[in-house]
Amino acid sequence: MTENKMVQADQLTRFMFDDCPVRGLHVNLQQVWRHVAANKVYPKAIHQALGELTVAAVLLASNLKFDGNLIVQVQGKGILKMLVAEATSAATCRATARWDESAVIDDNMTLVDLLGEGGMFVLTLQPSQGESWQGMVELSGSSIAQMLMNYMARSEQLATYIMLAADDEHASGLLLQKLPEQDIDEDSWTELSALSETLTADELLRLDVQTLLYRLFHEHELRVFTPQNVEFSCTCSRAKVGDMLLLLGGQEVGEAVAEQGSIEVNCDFCHARYVFDEADVNSLFGTDIVATAQEELAARQLNH
Ligand SMILES: [Zn+2]
Repeated sequence: MTENKMVQADQLTRFMFDDCPVRGLHVNLQQVWRHVAANKVYPKAIHQALGELTVAAVLLASNLKFDGNLIVQVQGKGILKMLVAEATSAATCRATARWDESAVIDDNMTLVDLLGEGGMFVLTLQPSQGESWQGMVELSGSSIAQMLMNYMARSEQLATYIMLAADDEHASGLLLQKLPEQDIDEDSWTELSALSETLTADELLRLDVQTLLYRLFHEHELRVFTPQNVEFSCTCSRAKVGDMLLLLGGQEVGEAVAEQGSIEVNCDFCHARYVFDEADVNSLFGTDIVATAQEELAARQLNH
């Protein structure tokens, strides 16, 4: 059996320590990660960071106490403008990145080099019912895991250890978190964190969850729960693109269609292509916005 076959792909596994109040999560993505990464040709450093952020979103969304989704964004002011990963309480995810595609990006450039100074880390919670919530802090840390741990240390009381890794084939993560409202002595937490830190990125990417947990925590009593499948899912739709066009307004949309014949919107996450022609936008706005725009354009040309 090859090592690749030993890894159960696209699964989220929860575990609990019976001898101390700590819970854990492990995620390994393969097909899902390859699907996310196949949408664009990502430079190496962006590719790795995006894989790690996708795993981070899946780990954090699995702790949601409501139905809905969680979005993690890393916003930069350098070559890299934005990394965004979204995961739902139903264990689906999507992710994408925006960067200056005209820039020359060396394989040795780090995430920090790419983001530049003054970046932000943004976490958004969107319950399917009720109000959204957003938290934002300045970026600090040299990796996605460090940025996330710094964010959590500033915003949450629960001590959390996170390790993330991604390569072309896999994107994986391990999370340990103290249970709420239960005391744990500092030594036990320090020991579990120190054990976790002995894990290499390669082991995190390639070991199956049972082997990985045994390798780290065989001196502890662990309960490992049945894994949950993780899937890629994009929430884009023709109706949402229509809502966006309505927000732009009849004049702008009418002029664009009068000049180009149609409007085309491509989803950044899944590359779905939505085309709205003259009949589509007129029916969307409930009035002949294209004819109005054509008349205005003609009148403007007469005035020149
Ligand atoms: Zn989409």
